[in-house]
Amino acid sequence: MQYYSLNGQSPNTSFKDAVIRGIAPDRGLYFPMEIPQLEPEFFENIETLSTEEIAYRAISPFVGDAIPEAELRKIVSEVLDFDFPVVPVDGNLSTLELFHGPTLAFKDVGARFMARCLGYFSKDQDQEVTVLVATSGDTGGAVANGFLGVPGVKVVILYPSGKVSDIQERQLTTLGQNITALEVNGTFDDCQDMVKSAFLDTDITGKRQLTSANSINVARWLPQMFYFLLAYKQTKALGKELVFSVPSGNFGNICAGMMAHRLGMPVHHFVAATNANQVVPDFMATGQYEPKPSVATISNAMDVGDPSNFIRIRKIYGNDFDRLKGHLSSSSFSDDATREAMADVQKRTGYTMDPHGAVGYLGLKKYMEDHPDKLGIFLETAHPIKFLDVMESVFDFEIALPENIKTLMDKQKEFIKIASYADLKVFLMG
Ligand SMILES: *Cc1c(COP(=O)(O)O)cnc(C)c1O
Repeated sequence: MQYYSLNGQSPNTSFKDAVIRGIAPDRGLYFPMEIPQLEPEFFENIETLSTEEIAYRAISPFVGDAIPEAELRKIVSEVLDFDFPVVPVDGNLSTLELFHGPTLAFKDVGARFMARCLGYFSKDQDQEVTVLVATSGDTGGAVANGFLGVPGVKVVILYPSGKVSDIQERQLTTLGQNITALEVNGTFDDCQDMVKSAFLDTDITGKRQLTSANSINVARWLPQMFYFLLAYKQTKALGKELVFSVPSGNFGNICAGMMAHRLGMPVHHFVAATNANQVVPDFMATGQYEPKPSVATISNAMDVGDPSNFIRIRKIYGNDFDRLKGHLSSSSFSDDATREAMADVQKRTGYTMDPHGAVGYLGLKKYMEDHPDKLGIFLETAHPIKFLDVMESVFDFEIALPENIKTLMDKQKEFIKIASYADLKVFLMG
């Protein structure tokens, strides 16, 4: 499979090169030259296929011959070694729980897949690769965990000071080894801008091979297709058409779901649920795409004012607004509405949603009002415990700390403070 840049100014390249570069030299996102099709029998017999088989068959056309079959099978089975259950919550609304991985958020699968691909590729590279990544909350921990100890790879994580939760900060600042955390005096958008500038800075790129582990990297983005396929496998016997509601920030996860749909998976509709950062809901209403500065919310991993992957979603539907509208709805919800939904669902059903999942729930509920015969699935993208302060403000009961989080609480946070791009440059040149 070859990849091209959506900015159209860079040469086409292989999966390997797209993963190592992260972003094309013209700053465009890489996109596959063709969208492969899975055989109808794959979907007809999906309940008889193992997790590894489903994942391997979905991802292998995108990887091509960059990784041999046995190695790729090993990678997907290691990456998917925990559960992704679909759990009924409220009438015809179920949730797909994506938080059973090591850092308790859905980014574990993409981060671990990318780390293993890069680990495989760096075996025959002379130069060390530096993974430079901005996080609004959960990416940092997932990337740190996925890349910890991978030979030939250094990881530098930028996170906005005071805007990630305590557990999120601990997950990315306590590992040491090949992982360095930079605390940025600014917002997530500032972190993301600094990362983008570093990629364009030839002083830095002349010295270090940089790559990105944000969902702009195809090896982070594409494996997220697995979630949707595994949800389809679990619910197919119910014989209902599926609606997926995805709590969205940078729009990588939902974009992967849409890609799974394009591979041939039957899906009735997608809902992109956002917090107050409502660039996409506004776009779906007006057809005008206007990036805005991000605003801080209680679903902080979705505080994104200019979602990187939205351009890929438009591309998947041939940049045709009406066609896109046939597959995607989008709505935005306030923090108050999110808290209310968390309290209401917990009281009526006993199910505890985290703030991100709750935004997904709200988007789904709204859509399902007019589509009661469908099966709605919202993605629970993080374990509620990651947002302890929010949980404590909504619920009057304590949420037990999982074991791996308990040990985190005793570890020393280590980070370097930076305030500007110049500081980042000094660090990367040093
Ligand atoms: C990253 C994240 C999101 C947003 O996912 P995107 O792929 O950026 O849209 C939603 N929820 C949680 C908990 C996250 O960590």
